[in-house]
Amino acid sequence: MKKRELLEHAKPHYEENQLLELEHAIDFATKAHIGQKRKSGEPYIIHPLHVADTLIDWGMDIDTVLAGVLHDTVEDTTATLHEIENLFGRDVAFLVDGVTKVSQARAGMQDLTNYLPQTKDNLSKLLIAVGQDVRVIIIKLADRLHNMSTLQHMSPEKQKKIARESLEVFAPMADRLGMGRVRMQIEELAFSYLDPSEFNRLKNLMQKRLGKSTRKLGIVRSEVESELAKHTINYVVNGRVKSIYSLHRKMLKVDNNIDDIYDLMALRVIVENKEDCYRTLGILHSMYQPMISRIKDYIAIPKPNGYQSLHTTVITPSKQIVEFQIRTFEMHEYAERGLAASFHYHEQKSNKDYSKRKGQSATLPAQLQWITQMQEVAQRLRDNEEISQDQLNIDLFGNRIFVYSPKGDLYNLPEGALPLDFAYLVHSDIGKHAYSFRVNGNIHAFDKPLQNGDVVEVVTRKMSQPKQAWQELVTTTHARNKLRAHLRQLGIIESLSGAAAIIREKAARKKK
Ligand code: MN
Repeated sequence: MKKRELLEHAKPHYEENQLLELEHAIDFATKAHIGQKRKSGEPYIIHPLHVADTLIDWGMDIDTVLAGVLHDTVEDTTATLHEIENLFGRDVAFLVDGVTKVSQARAGMQDLTNYLPQTKDNLSKLLIAVGQDVRVIIIKLADRLHNMSTLQHMSPEKQKKIARESLEVFAPMADRLGMGRVRMQIEELAFSYLDPSEFNRLKNLMQKRLGKSTRKLGIVRSEVESELAKHTINYVVNGRVKSIYSLHRKMLKVDNNIDDIYDLMALRVIVENKEDCYRTLGILHSMYQPMISRIKDYIAIPKPNGYQSLHTTVITPSKQIVEFQIRTFEMHEYAERGLAASFHYHEQKSNKDYSKRKGQSATLPAQLQWITQMQEVAQRLRDNEEISQDQLNIDLFGNRIFVYSPKGDLYNLPEGALPLDFAYLVHSDIGKHAYSFRVNGNIHAFDKPLQNGDVVEVVTRKMSQPKQAWQELVTTTHARNKLRAHLRQLGIIESLSGAAAIIREKAARKKK
C-alpha cells in the first residue's frame, strides 16, 4: 500500500479539500513513522495506510479515514495529540486518542505470558469506555483486521493470544455493530491460528461436500431464476458458502455430523423491496416443500443487531435440502457493513447521531439501543463503580433478544432472560407484584426463558409479593438488585438468617 494507491482509492468518494487533508495526513504519518519497521520488515507506514484503505472500503467519513492514517502516531512516535488537533481538528484528535487508549491498555497486558481471563475483562471494559464514539471501535476493527492478516510474522504464542482475543472481543464487537463481513473475516483468521488442524479438516470436509452439491444447486438456482422472472421480480441470486468457523460451531451442536447441517451452501435472493421479499418467499414455497420449523422472518422481527432477511429451507423433488435467504439490497448492505453503512461518505452529517458528547442525547435506531446501554456502563466505569465480568458478559457481550409488551413497546434483554427480568425491566412495581405470565397469549412458567419476538404480559396481583425462590428466577443485574431490595424490605432475607440461627442454636443444644 503506497500513498498514491490510497489517494487513488479515495478520489471518487471525497471532496477536493478532503483529499488534500488526506494527503497531508499521509505525509505527516509517513514522516512520524520514518525508520520504523513492521515485523515483516516492511516500512511501518504500510500498516496505517492499509487501515485507512479498509476504512474507505467500508465507506467511512473523512475524519475516520484521517484518524486511520494517524492512529499509531501518538502511541508510537513523537507526534502529540495537541499537534493532531491543531492540524486536523478536534474530531480527528478525539478519534486518535480513543484508539491510542485501547492500544495502551493492550500494551500493558502484552507482558502476560499466558492469556488470562482478565485480558478480556480489561479490554472489553476499555472498548466500552471509548465506545462513546462508535467510530473508535470501527477504526480498531480495521486495525485488528490488518494485524490479523499479517499474523504469520509473529511468534506462535503471540499468534494464539491475538487470535483468541480477536475471537472473544473483536468478533462479537463487529457482530454487535452488524458488521457481518468483518466479523466473519476476523473469525476465519482467528480460528485458523487457534486450531489449524481442525480448521483444515473442516475446510476439506466442506470442499468435498460442496463439490457434490454445487451442480445440483445450479439446477435449483436456474429454476428459481426463471420463476422469479415470470413474476417480473427484479432479482440478483448468489450463493453463499458457510464460513469454516460457523461450521465448527454448528458441528459442536450436531454431534459432529455434517449431514445434519443444511446450510453449508445457501442461495441468496436479493430483490428491490420488502413486498418482493415476501412474494419471493411465496414463489419458493409454491415450487418446493418448505421445512416448517426453519422459516424465519427477520424482516418483521430483525435480529437485535439490526440484521434483516427472510430465511427458509426447502426440499426439492430430488430430495435436496436448500436454504434461501431473501432480502432487499438495502438489507444486504446492512448485513454486510452494519453500522459502518450509516457513516457513508455522502451522508456525513448523520455521524453526529452516533456519538454522544457534551450531554447530547443520541438518537439510535431501536435495534441499536445496546449502544446507549454501553454508554451507561462506560459512565459507571468512569465513576469507578465495580462491575463484575460475569455481568458485563450478560449485559454486553451475550446475544440479545427483543420482546414486546402487549402494547407493542419493544424491550431489549440478554438471551436467556426470564419473565421476571422482563417484569422488573418494565417497572419495579410490576416485578414486585408479578403473579403469572402470558407469553404470546399462553401461560408461561417463571423459569422458562423468553425468546426473541415474544409478546410478554405480566399478570399482577396487588397481594402478590416477591418470594425468596425468585432469586433463582432472574438473570439481569437490574432485576436482581430490585428483587433483593424488595426481599429485604419484606424481611425475607433477614428472616432466613434468623431461622438459620435458630436451627444452629437447636443443634448446639442437642449436642449438650
Ligand atoms: Mn495499528
